[in-house]
Amino acid sequence: MIADVYYFTARSRTYEGSMSKVKGPLALEKLGFKDKVKKGDKVVIKTHFGALENTRYLRPSYLRFLSDYVKEQGAIPSLAESCGWGLPESISGVHTEYSGRANEEEYLRAALMHGFTPETMGAPILMLDGPHGIDYELQPINGKRFNEVLVAGRLREFDYMIMATHFKGHSNAGFGGAIKNLGIGCVSKGGKIQAHMGKKFDVDFSKCEPECTKCIDICPTGAMSKDKDLILKKDWDKCRYCYMCRSICDKKVIDTGFSTREQFNMQFVDNAKGVVEHFGKEKIFFINYVIDITWQCDCGSSDVPFVPDIGVLSSLDPVALDQACIDLVHDSYINPHSALADIDRFSSKNMKNDWFSYIPRYDPDSGELDMNQKGIPSRHWEIQLETAEEIGLGSRNYNLIPVEIKRENEHQH
Ligand code: SF4
Ligand code: SF4
Repeated sequence: MIADVYYFTARSRTYEGSMSKVKGPLALEKLGFKDKVKKGDKVVIKTHFGALENTRYLRPSYLRFLSDYVKEQGAIPSLAESCGWGLPESISGVHTEYSGRANEEEYLRAALMHGFTPETMGAPILMLDGPHGIDYELQPINGKRFNEVLVAGRLREFDYMIMATHFKGHSNAGFGGAIKNLGIGCVSKGGKIQAHMGKKFDVDFSKCEPECTKCIDICPTGAMSKDKDLILKKDWDKCRYCYMCRSICDKKVIDTGFSTREQFNMQFVDNAKGVVEHFGKEKIFFINYVIDITWQCDCGSSDVPFVPDIGVLSSLDPVALDQACIDLVHDSYINPHSALADIDRFSSKNMKNDWFSYIPRYDPDSGELDMNQKGIPSRHWEIQLETAEEIGLGSRNYNLIPVEIKRENEHQH
């Protein structure tokens, strides 16, 4: 099946071509938003507020105008994200480029620093997996690697969802778009960790230190305890898979395994399928802002964008939408000031235009970031799309419909 994808260029001659105020809401309107959403419906706008030092996350006004548009239809908007994995900084005492988002309290602080507050959004802001990332619903699926997914629990409170995604690169997935916003952004803390690591959760209590109580103290559900002989016990029924016990233990008692980059891609696509099956595909509107296209995702720092801004695209099919964005990026010239241009310059072979094949990535052996200056291509971005299509998340075939904004007193068509 061929899915429609609406495309609004980032180019603008006048205020009537505003990417935030005009094109974002129109991109939703093209998807039939007005016909579907009724007065009083609760609509969650899922986005990413950006890690603290990131500077390429979506500007708050893009989201504010979506929020206002929802209200104009008589519906009730909320803004949402989900808790990041790992320990809150109040416990770890360490700030990294990925931290500061491990629970609702600290993520809302980062959101505020980036200009996202209930006042600026005109709507409440919440974590879809609850204040500690452990509110989830189990969704059975027939996935590529998983047969169940920890879908973020507070989705139960909403009638519709707008996936407002910043489309950009990602050092492990090749790119981050609508599929990844579903598969990482709409699952619980445990769902994120399972996507990255797999579902292994082995506990070798023989390695445990008798006097240590760190995991017991941190466990939000009381699943960890020690008996009178100081032997650690885990109550599997109480566990809500936040994996914070794993993060705090430095004795390698808790083994959550390892996944290759290929497995990571397939696993978060499985997660995405679980989210869509749980919430209902017909109730999700996907909108990708294809701007500030860095090789990093919004969880880390920000480098120079490697291609120019492209525009706003929307679809009811996340796979078609991401594929269309990929193709537009691959049609673009490289920014000569970007890291990817360095690869081209120093590489022995000329890069083709499939820029996402050359994104800097983590070396699985050393765990270090490899800037890929030798220009070795990697097709992880395509694994993401192939897997998504194979498990029925959507179609890579699309019909691109450019939408032109006319000057005042003219109509768009
Ligand atoms: S943190 Fe590690 S060593 Fe300490 S009690 Fe828990 S599992 Fe044992
Ligand atoms: S046992 Fe570990 S993973 Fe389970 S809820 Fe407690 S801290 Fe989280």
